[in-house]
Formats: sequence, structure tokens, C-alpha cells
Amino acid sequence: MAYKVTLLPGDGIGPEVTSAMQMCIDATGVKIDWEEHPVGAHAIEQFGTPLPDSVFDSIRKNKIAIKGPIVTPVGSGFRSVNVQLRQVLDLYACVRPTKYYEGTKAVNKNVDIVLFRENTEDLYMGIEFDLGTKEAKQLIKKINGFQPKQIRDDSAISIKPISETGTKRIVKSALEYAVKNKRKKVSVVHKANIMKFTDGLFLRVAREVAEGYKGKIEFQDVIVDNMCMQLVQKPELYDVLVLPNLYGDIVSDLCAGLVGGLGIAPGANIGDEIALFEPVHGSAPKYTGQNKVNPTATILSGVLMLRHLNELDAADRLEKAVAEVIKEGKDVTYDLKPDRNDPSAVGTKEMAEAICKKL
Ligand code: NAD
Repeated sequence: MAYKVTLLPGDGIGPEVTSAMQMCIDATGVKIDWEEHPVGAHAIEQFGTPLPDSVFDSIRKNKIAIKGPIVTPVGSGFRSVNVQLRQVLDLYACVRPTKYYEGTKAVNKNVDIVLFRENTEDLYMGIEFDLGTKEAKQLIKKINGFQPKQIRDDSAISIKPISETGTKRIVKSALEYAVKNKRKKVSVVHKANIMKFTDGLFLRVAREVAEGYKGKIEFQDVIVDNMCMQLVQKPELYDVLVLPNLYGDIVSDLCAGLVGGLGIAPGANIGDEIALFEPVHGSAPKYTGQNKVNPTATILSGVLMLRHLNELDAADRLEKAVAEVIKEGKDVTYDLKPDRNDPSAVGTKEMAEAICKKL
């Protein structure tokens, strides 16, 4: 029987990379019944909203979804569709594996890291008060009234909530994953020396949860700025990372940069019941409709989806096919060529076709 999967092509380069992914997944022989829904700019055109309710209905029904990137207007306009999906569906674990593939422009080859980013809290909750609003003024007055450090009147405010509940479940996910996948070490990343209450809570709870895994897995904590430097110099020291939302976002792009960029970085957003897979990269608007960008990140997100569906053989075959095409370096997009202007670079669709031929 075919699996029912909600497909959200997104906007910008999203439709191109998701259709490349679809072609590769279908070529593995795993039967998928794709239930496609527009989101982002294309949904605004049709429904007047970037995220229609029907998208949530479909994902809740199918429990599995895969999406392309979606534009988020900076500073104004609608709130990020990506963040809304993660929050409303309570997809609390953002899982981003970063691994070296031969043939990529990796800065460091000794990278095999799986990053767990908390997905529902922190500054990403989007609780913000704009400069000059009644709410911002009230809040500033109140906070200035009960502690000595004075917030300037001309400030905007963002709130950073980090809870025991949110921390426990993300740290547990990372530790469970590490044990199940025979990884060696879990590192919790924080800035608890400065944010003693929010990051302090994250670190304390992480240590408490890790107590239950003593003897099964090594556990350590690293301050986020130090972690960034160490990842650049000695990524081989790190295995599974677990971070609050904002640091997770930034450090995962750093990890992607280590192994050759956003074009090859896959991701998953996982809750207790629902899993939503997506590339780490954004909608790269300047390349829209050019059949130019690298489909690998979305295809590897499809590999993660196949593993989630327990289609392990198909997942391994597809990952191997991707690795072979990248290693050969012939049928690859511009970003995987030694010279980005190399005229022999192929398009998004052609790279996906080359991958399908290897299956
Ligand atoms: P981006 O990831 O879209 O692009 C940055 C650069 O990375 C591109 O200019 C391109 O050079 C390169 N790049 C990205 N994907 C690539 C690919 N598949 N192949 C080759 N090169 C690739 O980041 P941005 O420009 O900061 O964001 C553009 C839009 O995407 C924004 O509106 C942002 O909010 C949104 N965004 C969405 C998601 C998501 O949907 N999950 C994630 C990040 C950003």
C-alpha cells in the first residue's frame, strides 16, 4: 500500500527542488501517494493566506510531510510559515545531520554531526513588542520598575521563554537518538554564563536528563561561542549536539558551511506523532524558476523521510546514489563544481535524473 505524504512545494526555488526530490523518491520504488498543497506566495495567490487550514488538516491526517522552502518577509509582512508549522504542530525536535560527502567543497572532511535544535520556544516564539507601541511602553515601564537595569524607551522587545518541559523533551530526543544510532557523545550547547535563568535552565535540565543515560553515552556541555570556534577547528570532536532554538538555527548553518554549503544540508522537524522534512536552505528567490540550484538538500531530506518510514533499503540506495553523483562531479549543479561558472554544470532536474539513473 502507498504511503500518504503531504507535499508542500513552497515558493522561490521550492517547487523545483521538491519536484526533483519527488522524482528520486518515486525512482526508489517506494510507493508514495503525494498530497500536494500550495503554501507561501502560491497559497496567497489562491487563498489569500500563506498557510491555509487545509495544510494543517492534511498533515494531521497523514502524519508525514515534506516541504520546500518558503519566503519570510524580513521585519514586516506575515509571520514565518515555517515557524508557524513547527509551533502549531508541536514539531519540537529539529534534526539536522551534517556529513561529509566526497566531491563537495568541504572546509573539513572530518564532519559527521547530528544537530538537535529545540523548535518551539526561545526568541523564535515570536513574542515581540515593536518600538513605540502601547504594549512595549507598558512592558518597559513595568520591567524598569522592578529591577535596576533600565531599558531605553526607544527599544523594541523580544521575549525568550525556555521551559523545563521544552528542554526535557528535546534533550531526551537527542540522547535517545544517540543511543539508538550508536553515537558516542551528546554535547549540550548554551550561554548559561550570561543568560543564567533561560540558558541556565536549559543546561540544568539537560544535565538532569543525561543522568538517566550515564554509562550509555558520554555527555558534555559547551558554551555556544566556543562551540562555533571548535566546530571550525576540530569538528571531529563533536557527534550529537543539542541546542535551544536560536543557537540551533545558527550553528546548523555553520555545520552546513563546513561540509560544502546549504545546497546539501537536509533537515527534519519531529514531534510525538508528526514528522515534517525540509532542506535547511531558504527559498533563494534570485534563482527562482531557473532550474539552477542544487536539489541535494531536499533529496537527502527525502532520505530522512524514507528512514522515518522504515524504508531503510530505499533510503540507503538513494543516499548512495546521491553520494556517487556528487563524487563523480559531472552531473552536478554549479555550486558543486570547483568553479561556480563552469559551463558544464547541470540543472536541478538533470542532477536529479542522474541520481535516479544510479538507483
Ligand atoms: P537562502 O538559503 O534562500 O539562500 C542563501 C544563498 O544560499 C543563496 O543565494 C544561494 O547562493 C545559496 N543556496 C541556498 N539554497 C541553495 C541550493 N539549493 N543550491 C545552491 N545554492 C543554494 O537564504 P536567504 O537568502 O537568507 O533567504 C531567502 C528566503 O528564504 C528568506 O525569505 C528566508 O526567510 C527564507 N528561508 C526559508 C527557510 C525555510 O523555508 N525553511 C529557511 C531559511 C530561509
